[in-house]
Amino acid sequence: MALQKSDALVLKAYNWSESSRTIVFFTRDFGRLALIDKGGRSLKSRRGRMLAFSTLEVTFYQSRRETSGYVSDILVEQSFEFAREGTLGRLGYGSAACELLLLLLPEEEPQPELFDYTVHFLSWLDRADKRYLPSLFVAFYLRLLSSLGYHTSLTHCSVCGEPIADEAESRGEVAFSPEQGGVVSAACQKAGDYYIRLTYQSLKLLVTLQTASLNEAATLPISFVEAGLLVEALRRFMSYQADVRADIKSLEFLEKLKNSQGGNGN
Ligand SMILES: [Zn+2]
Repeated sequence: MALQKSDALVLKAYNWSESSRTIVFFTRDFGRLALIDKGGRSLKSRRGRMLAFSTLEVTFYQSRRETSGYVSDILVEQSFEFAREGTLGRLGYGSAACELLLLLLPEEEPQPELFDYTVHFLSWLDRADKRYLPSLFVAFYLRLLSSLGYHTSLTHCSVCGEPIADEAESRGEVAFSPEQGGVVSAACQKAGDYYIRLTYQSLKLLVTLQTASLNEAATLPISFVEAGLLVEALRRFMSYQADVRADIKSLEFLEKLKNSQGGNGN
């Protein structure tokens, strides 16, 4: 058995006895990787603490004869505490990001750029003013989808390929089709098909966030209500394009948070 080492984030842990668990990691060098952590939950183990929202260095054995490898050691490199104002929102968006990665990442395909981007996202989530958390999350969601091959067409009609901006501006809204994979011009819409109506403002935001760096996203305030609409459009897009049917529990939690705050996120 060969000993391997990689930077990693924890996506989920499944406890299957009082002392052992299986941990699904997003590793920098091996992509999504499920490893058995024997004895890791016991009080004597220094790996016992749940290690969400931390970058870790995980050492593990990979066995050719068995399906999963085994955790040998875990060192915490950097922990994001989400202690600044707006902790619940930070935790909600951080959990949603991990859920999305768990749903979408293919097994054992290295994604070093996406890994670095995710760590960068968590560090912004930890330190940005809470007004910018929704736009940071939408930017992360768009980047995650496109780096895994699910690119949303937002500037050109996803049926005929014509530019959409003028039409969207004069009508004040645009139709978004999760099934077609993006916006659809009036001429290409079919009666009976399902469309999400986005305002021209929302479309402009999405287009901006699609190419924005996280540093730029962290200067764009958007309301929880608008973010909710954009995230819902992306969630439906993901359901069609990636064939992921699961609901994202952390996003339901954010929905409740939004309602409890009267929708303004403050
Ligand atoms: Zn068209």
